[in-house]
Amino acid sequence: MEKAFQKNLINIEPYVAGEQPKSDDIIKLNANENPYPPSPAVQKAIAEFDAGALRLYPPMDAAPLRQAIADFYGIDRSCVFAGNGSDDVLAAAFRAFFNSDKPLLYPDITYSFYPVWCELLKIPFETVPVDEGFNIHVEDYYRENGGIVIPNPNAPTTIGLGLDAVEDLISHNRDSIVIIDEAYADFSGVSCVPLIKKYDNLVITQTFSKSRALAGMRVACAMADPYLIGYLDAVKDSYNSYPMDAVAIRAGAAAMSDREYFEQTCKKIIATRERTAAGLRELGFILPDSSANFLFVTHPKHTAKEIFSYLRERGIYIRYFNKPRIDDRLRITIGTDEQMDRLISELRTLIQG
Ligand code: PMP
Repeated sequence: MEKAFQKNLINIEPYVAGEQPKSDDIIKLNANENPYPPSPAVQKAIAEFDAGALRLYPPMDAAPLRQAIADFYGIDRSCVFAGNGSDDVLAAAFRAFFNSDKPLLYPDITYSFYPVWCELLKIPFETVPVDEGFNIHVEDYYRENGGIVIPNPNAPTTIGLGLDAVEDLISHNRDSIVIIDEAYADFSGVSCVPLIKKYDNLVITQTFSKSRALAGMRVACAMADPYLIGYLDAVKDSYNSYPMDAVAIRAGAAAMSDREYFEQTCKKIIATRERTAAGLRELGFILPDSSANFLFVTHPKHTAKEIFSYLRERGIYIRYFNKPRIDDRLRITIGTDEQMDRLISELRTLIQG
């Protein structure tokens, strides 16, 4: 018999992340992680961390990290919020900014966590279709809404909008908060951080999980007008005053301070991306030019599911989404050159026999 409390339990379909392999010899190209370690400055910060300091709560506002982010971008610390991965930052931002009866707008093909937060937080939403080539048209967002969220570049499509298009979107929606999720912007070179001085309705989120190789540490930030940062702090202080631990604050600040290492690794990943895209096209794959650290591919002669299973059996994990409009596509994270060579060689065997 159903117990009375059972009808009060949450009814939600949670976000499903990429599979985590059980063994170390898997080539893991399914979560858009960085194939290189974080900056040596991170290793040093962790090695020098005094465990005795864990006796005390961490700085409530993650100040050293916020300062390092502000210094990197040449903005004021009051424009920066920090959180426990951008999923944490985005969840706080959805809670803080999307309280309208009008629908939140986001692309129909995009980061699949957005509908989960809408469901959890009871936010009305409408999806805006991307075109056949997966392009976002900002004119489609010139309509009444309770807010907008768009990743730039978009995931999993890999396609980025130029700065002019993003500014157009923000300036046509001055009565709404526009969140630009820049999880992958370091691989495109297009960031709208300079626009936060100009637009008080813009919120940018960034993560340290991809370009700064700290997925395991959970570090991310938002950048916006200080007035909006105040609302993010208010939400944070209403559910968890100390979301970031003391080690993550130090390690994140160290990662931000090493600009040279960051630029070098991004450059390496971009070079591998271009080489891999060319190799896949030679095998007949079709894919848009990528502005991210992953590729979004389809093959005219082999189904996505078939390729996914073939690679999985050979120890290479990529991502397949069994969802409308993209169930013939695969998302492949850019690994090291050696890992991508293995991938291409396995695919060559499948396709050319
Ligand atoms: N936004 C987008 C578009 C993503 O793909 C991801 C990674 N899953 C995130 C945000 C969240 O990343 P994290 O929580 O690791 O910062």
